[in-house]
Amino acid sequence: MRIAVLGAGLAGVTTAWCLSRDGHEVLLLEKSARIADAASGANGGIVSASRAFPWPSPQMLKTFLKALVRNDQSVRVYPMRWDPEFWSWGLAFLACCNAASYAQLLARKVRYVRYSQAQLGRIAEESGVSFHRKQGGVMYLYRTQEALEAGVRKMAPMKAFGFPFRVLDGRQAAQIDPGLSRAPIAGAVFSETDESGDSAMFCRELAKVCESRGTEVMLNCEVKGIAVQGDRVTHVETSTGRLAVDGAVAALGIIDPHLRKSLGAELPIYPVKGCSVTLPIVEPQRAPRHAGMDESKLAAYCPMGDRLRLTGGAEFAGYGRAHRAEDAQRLVRLAEELFPGAIDGTRVEARACLRPMTPQSTPLFGTGRYRNLWFNVGLGHMGWTMASGAAAITADLIAGRPSAIPLDGLLVRRA
Ligand SMILES: Cc1cc2nc3c(=O)[nH]c(=O)nc-3n(C[C@H](O)[C@H](O)[C@H](O)COP(=O)(O)OP(=O)(O)OC[C@H]3O[C@@H](n4cnc5c(N)ncnc54)[C@H](O)[C@@H]3O)c2cc1C
Repeated sequence: MRIAVLGAGLAGVTTAWCLSRDGHEVLLLEKSARIADAASGANGGIVSASRAFPWPSPQMLKTFLKALVRNDQSVRVYPMRWDPEFWSWGLAFLACCNAASYAQLLARKVRYVRYSQAQLGRIAEESGVSFHRKQGGVMYLYRTQEALEAGVRKMAPMKAFGFPFRVLDGRQAAQIDPGLSRAPIAGAVFSETDESGDSAMFCRELAKVCESRGTEVMLNCEVKGIAVQGDRVTHVETSTGRLAVDGAVAALGIIDPHLRKSLGAELPIYPVKGCSVTLPIVEPQRAPRHAGMDESKLAAYCPMGDRLRLTGGAEFAGYGRAHRAEDAQRLVRLAEELFPGAIDGTRVEARACLRPMTPQSTPLFGTGRYRNLWFNVGLGHMGWTMASGAAAITADLIAGRPSAIPLDGLLVRRA
């Protein structure tokens, strides 16, 4: 089939790869001038399967409600409080913030991320792309003994799911990662099967391999709409012309609301903004070897070759992509505090990007009103961890193969 993949972030590029592997003629359409220019271009880099905690939880209920009235916590809601789209999303989110829903979502998400991490390994091996992949564990840091103990309790369900992790004091953490020897931490949980890498590099390299195998990569090509006949999409309308297709995959990240209305499916996806800084490493001996997360500051760090990436923050502020200078500065200060002397804090690449979140924090697949328009959307806060599985599932659905994992709760509804 001739299939257009709409959007070239993690979801789109991995889907293009899997469809090309299945022998389809693939067109990869991207409105930006380069691949992975949105959320997939500046994320935290951690493949954090052992942290597949659903966002909606009884604890998050309190945080979210507080965020509606104050803006001094990790989750922030900005003045678009009267945005109906936000409220409809927020109510669906709050409906999942109970113990029963949490347990169900956790089991679903763990099954899914395990599958996805295996698919990432498969794509990496088959394609041969390099992306500063670092396997062998991720550090989750705690500043006090009390916080470390709470962190270990939080991991209990993941232990029950079989994720291996070690509880370390500060000295033991520095033995595994000497970059942490000056970090002000009481200890860490080291998740041994988590890994990290540069998802932008992964996408760009993978797109090149796809192109070399016949995929047509079309940059600066904005999807404006679809043309349909009955229950089938016949063409994709773009800024550079009309393309006849046998099918299409929407992998559009947050999805422009105008376009969303025409796609024939319920797509409860809301942007949740995060800040990202990338800094040059000037003293490699002082930089981290493994990626990690400072749990007390809710910020992630990840070495990517000769650069260090830090990300943090979760802001409901509409579709704007501007970042606030103080958020970026906070991340730079954190890098200097954890890894003194490792980075040059004056040469900062700072930006914000938008997580395409569903209320359940799990993605959506399948078809809505049009039976040849598939969705691969809602990768949310863990899209690097979840994209390769999402692509494999999408390719299976298109091929009519049974999916490797159950898809209950992961299918879009027709609008
Ligand atoms: C600050 C931050 C930190 C994160 N850290 C992690 C992490 O450590 N680990 C992890 O697993 N996940 C992380 N994530 C999540 C992850 O980055 C996202 O889930 C993932 O990038 C989403 O990929 P996507 O392809 O769905 O969306 P995107 O990367 O946003 O891609 C969508 C693409 O579609 C294109 N597009 C949109 N509209 C059109 C149109 N009309 N026509 C053509 N093209 C269009 C866009 O330009 C874009 O390139 C983080 C996210 C953020 C914001």
